[in-house]
Order: sequence, then C-alpha cells, then structure tokens
Amino acid sequence: MIRFEKVTKQYQNGEHAVNNVDLNIKDGEFFVFIGPSGCGKTTTLKMINRLIPLTTGTIYIDEKRISDYNIHELRWNIGYVLQQIALFPHMTIEENIAIVPELKKWDKDKIHQRITELLDSVGLDAESYRNRKPAELSGGEQQRVGVVRALAADPEIILMDEPFSALDPISRQKLQQDMIVLQRKIKKTIVFVTHDMQEAMMLGDRICIMKDGEVVQCDTPNEILKNPANEFVQNFLESGNVNKHVLSSKFIVRDMIDQGYFDAQKVDGEADFAETVAVEVLLQQLSSQTVVSVERDGKAVGLITQQHIIQFLANQLAREGERV
Ligand code: ADP
Ligand code: MG
Repeated sequence: MIRFEKVTKQYQNGEHAVNNVDLNIKDGEFFVFIGPSGCGKTTTLKMINRLIPLTTGTIYIDEKRISDYNIHELRWNIGYVLQQIALFPHMTIEENIAIVPELKKWDKDKIHQRITELLDSVGLDAESYRNRKPAELSGGEQQRVGVVRALAADPEIILMDEPFSALDPISRQKLQQDMIVLQRKIKKTIVFVTHDMQEAMMLGDRICIMKDGEVVQCDTPNEILKNPANEFVQNFLESGNVNKHVLSSKFIVRDMIDQGYFDAQKVDGEADFAETVAVEVLLQQLSSQTVVSVERDGKAVGLITQQHIIQFLANQLAREGERV
C-alpha cells in the first residue's frame, strides 16, 4: 500500500531529519511510528501526502510514485488528523466535516447522510452536534470531530500525528479504545505517530521505532517486547513502563476474561488453559500458535489471541499510569 524506498529528508540547514528509510505499510494496517521528540516522525508522515517534499528516494502508494499523483487527488484521498485540534472556529461541525466531500463534489444528501453515520460511530449524536460551533465542544469531542473529518470522504489512508496527546488521560483512553473499534470496522490503512509506548502497544498492528531519522526496529508489539533490537529499544520500553514479564506474570487468565479481553464463543471440548493460569504462560504458548481457548468457572468460554493480551497489558499500564 505505502512503500518507502531509501527515503531521505535533508532540511535546508543540512540536517538529515529522515535518513535512508525503507518501509512497507500494508493495506488495512494500523501502523505506528514512535520515537523521541525530533527523531523524524512528523517529517516522515508529512512526506506521505507531500506536505513536505522528500530529498532523495521514493514513496509509492499502490505502487505509483506519490510524485506522479495529482496533488489534490493525493490530499483528498488521504485523511489527516493533527495533534492540535484544527477545526475552523467560525464553521459548524457539519461544515467542518463536509469540506473534502464538497471539494470532491459529492451531492448534499450523500454528505448529510455520511456525516450522520460518522458522528454516530464516534459516539456523538449527530442531530445535537452537527449545528454547533467547535467552541461548544469539549477537547475530546473536538478531537473526535477531527477524526470524523479525516474519514469523511472515505479515504483509503489516514495519517494521524499525535492526535490524542493534548487530551486528558480519561478522554485519551476513551478515544484510543474507540479507535480500535473504529479501525476494526473501517479497515483503512492508518499511519499513526506517537511518543507514547503504551499507546503504540495498544493500537499498533506493527510499530516502527525511530531514532535520529532512522528505523531502529519495525515489528509487531509482541515481537518487539520479546526481542527488542537493541539497548535503545529496551530502554525505550522500560521508560514507557512496558515490561512484559513483570506485567504478564502479575495477571491471570481470569483478569482478562472478566475485563472482556477474549472472544466469547463456543469451544469444543476442554479449554487449553484454566482461569488461574498466568497471562505470561499464555503469551509463551501464543508464540507457537495463533489462538488459545480458556475457561471460566470450569467451562470453556472462548478464545484469546496475542492481540488480546497486548491490549489487555496496555490497558493495565494505562491504569497504573493514572494511579501514579
Ligand atoms: P518528531 O516529529 O519526531 O518530533 P520532526 O520530524 O518534527 O520530529 O523533526 C525531525 C528533525 O528535523 C528535528 O531535528 C527537527 O528539528 C528538524 N526539523 C523539522 N522541521 C524542520 C524545518 N522545517 N527546518 C529545519 N529542520 C527541521
Ligand atoms: Mg512531531
């Protein structure tokens, strides 16, 4: 879907903000860039929709060079959500969301219906929100509208640059969880920037860790936890308080089931794991198989995957973070 081939960005001052990056972001993937401030995340993101021109190398979208796309076509087909809420203050919520669909000359009924659908899908009642001005919404609600606006014209790709980092912890956690649900539904390619390891673990199908403009490691959350590429990644995980061993040995299967981190479904025969087994043991088992069945109160109740465990652990971390 999005392919980087030896992409380098050198700003006027000679600094290499992004250096020789090769990447392949898959169709429908939730792809997260993470790294310390100044490592080149925003630059990388903005090169995708040509907000920043690259210096050398090539980016392809669907195997066509981005430089070969018509710039409007490119921008309209890539949604973009910024950290700072960037709604136009004098326009209503509906008018804000309708900008790109109108540029694309969708008809009025279709736009109206689309906005109703999208607002409802992020938990904002369309009829009570569509005619309000941004100032009449909370920060969390405005950022939801920011997400809706990026999705409005049904783009295949959505770029999100630290979209939740200005929000309070509660709104932030709520939006993260809604994003997971939303992504399952829309299955778009999302390229997401954060400096928060917990957020990355919770949301990412794959995480790309950057340092000084280069990719240090690019893999699934579980693989990064299991095999950090080097000391930098290890330290970064620790600074984010993401320590799989401490955490996954602390919790048992019952905790996950009771918090809903499993797929409730019929399981034939006996479950693989009892409710008192440590999550750590499941994680080990899931390195050689994709799914395990679990029981609660002596009955097999459903299935757990690696993704469930990562999301469960990320959520525990977020909660612990709040208590500190
Ligand atoms: P991040 O988003 O990871 O914090 P950026 O992509 O914004 O990092 O920046 C990467 C590097 O490029 C930083 O060292 C930053 O100072 C530099 N940089 C960013 N924008 C410009 C610019 N317009 N001109 C010169 N240097 C820039
Ligand atoms: Mg940035």
